[in-house]
Amino acid sequence: MQKILLYNYISRKKEIFTPLHKGWVGLYTCGPTVYNYQHIGNYRTYIYEDILRRTLEHAKLKVKHVMNITDVGHLASDADEGEDKLETGARREGKNVQEIVKFYTDAFVADTQKLNIKRPAVLTPATAHIKKQIALVKKLFEKGYAYDTSEAVYFDVSKFKGYEKFSRQKLSQTRTGAREEVIIHTQKRNPHDFVLWFKTVGRFERHIMHWPSPWGEGFPGWHLECSAISTNYLSQPFDIHTGGVDHIYPHHTNEIAQSEAVEGKQLARFFLEGEHLLVQGGKMAKSSGTMFTLRDLEEKGFNPSAFRYLVLTAHYRTKLNFTWESLAAAEQSLKRLKDFVLELKDASADAKDRNNTVRAESRTRLAKAVVEFEKAIFSDLDTPKALAVIWKLINEYRKSAEEKKLKIDPKAALMLIYNFDNILGLDLNKIKKEKIPVEIIALAEKRETYRKEKNWTEADKIREELAAKGWEIKDATKGMRIKKI
Ligand code: AMP
Ligand code: ZN
Repeated sequence: MQKILLYNYISRKKEIFTPLHKGWVGLYTCGPTVYNYQHIGNYRTYIYEDILRRTLEHAKLKVKHVMNITDVGHLASDADEGEDKLETGARREGKNVQEIVKFYTDAFVADTQKLNIKRPAVLTPATAHIKKQIALVKKLFEKGYAYDTSEAVYFDVSKFKGYEKFSRQKLSQTRTGAREEVIIHTQKRNPHDFVLWFKTVGRFERHIMHWPSPWGEGFPGWHLECSAISTNYLSQPFDIHTGGVDHIYPHHTNEIAQSEAVEGKQLARFFLEGEHLLVQGGKMAKSSGTMFTLRDLEEKGFNPSAFRYLVLTAHYRTKLNFTWESLAAAEQSLKRLKDFVLELKDASADAKDRNNTVRAESRTRLAKAVVEFEKAIFSDLDTPKALAVIWKLINEYRKSAEEKKLKIDPKAALMLIYNFDNILGLDLNKIKKEKIPVEIIALAEKRETYRKEKNWTEADKIREELAAKGWEIKDATKGMRIKKI
C-alpha cells in the first residue's frame, strides 16, 4: 500500500499521514447549521470529506467519524453579529426551534444518503453538549483566557499566543463590520475577541434557547460546540479536522484557540480545508437565485449521483464552478461509466475461454491501474486523476475489444472498478440492466435478420426507428446488444 499524502493547512504542505493511534483515525468534520436546507456548496464539502474517509478505509484504517449539528448559537454572521440563524429559521416558518432542527436535520441526512455520503459514527447536536461547553469556558477562566461582561463572556485573543498562526492573516485585515461590532459588543477588550457565552440580556433578552451557567442564563457561542464535541469523542489531539475554506477564519481559528488554550496541546494533527463551489462563476447567493439545493437539481431531472460525479471531476482544493451544462456533462460521463460496467458484466459471462498468456497480461495491466489509481487518490485525494485512470482503462479495454484481441479480463476489470468505487461512491455495483420492452427486442431481431441477408437499407431503417424510440443497437462479437441511448 502506498503512503497517504494530505495537504495539511497547518503547515501549508503535503504531509505523510500516519494515524496517532494504531489502526484507527479520529476524523472530525464541521456539520450543518440546520435552519434551512443545505446548499450544493455545502454538499461539495461533505463529498470531499466522504472521499477522505473512504480513502482512509481503503488503506485498511478504521475511521471514527464525528460530526456536529449546529442547532444553537450560529449567528447571522460568523463573527457573532445578527440573530441566531436557528431562531430566524423558526420565525420564517412559524414553527418552534425544535421543529426546525428536526426537519432540517432529517433533510440533511436524506440528502447525504442520496449523495452516497457515509453517515458519521457520531452525528450529534450542539444542544446535547451544553455541560461540556460550559466546562470548557470554566477552564478558560481558570487559565486566564476568558473574561466576563454584562452582555457576554469573551475569549481574549491577545492572551493566546499565535492566534494568527493558522489563518496567517494579520488580524487587522480580517475583521469586517467593525462599526456594527463596536456598537453591539461595547464591552469587548479587543475587536477580535469572540463570544464563548451569550447572555440572555439586551438584544438576546427574548432568545428562546437558553441554559443556566455560572455567568447567568444564556447560550454558547458557535465555535465552542466543535471544540467540545470533537475532543469529547476523539480526545485531544485527534488526527484530522476538516471543513470548507470559509471556516479557516474565524471558525477553525477560534476552535484551535479555545482548545489549545485549555489543553496546552494541538487540537488536531491535520486540518483540511476544501475550496468552494461557485455558481455561474460567483459566490452562491439567494438574492441572485444561485443558491441551489439538492432538491433544485432533482426538480430539473438530475440524479444526485451526477452531482457527486461533478464534484469528483475537480480537486477539492480548487474552486469548482457549477453550471447546469457542467452538471449535464457529468451526468453523461457517469452514464458512459455505467454503460461500461454493464459491458463488462456482459463480457464476463463469456470470458472463460482466455488462455493463460492473456490472463497474465491482464493481471499486469490491472495491477498497473491499481498503482496509478492509489497514487492519485493517496496524493491528497486527487479524484480527477483517479477518474482519468478509469477512463484510460476503459479506452484500452474498448480498443483491444475492437481489435478482437482482448487483453483485459472483463471479470477482473469489473471487480477492480467495484473496488475503486468503494472510494468514489458512485454505486457502480448497483447498476441493473434496463428492462428491454418486447417490441424493441422484436425490432432488433428483425434488423438482425436483414443484416444476415445483407439487406443494409432495411437494417439501417430499423436502426433509425429504434433510435427514435430511444434505443441503440451495438453489434458485439457475440451478437447484438440493445441499450438505452
Ligand atoms: P455551514 O452550514 O454554513 O456551517 O456549512 C457547512 C459546511 O459547508 C462547512 O464545512 C462550510 O465550510 C462548507 N461550505 C459553505 N459554503 C460552501 C461553498 N460555497 N462551497 C463549498 N463548501 C461550502
Ligand atoms: Zn466546526
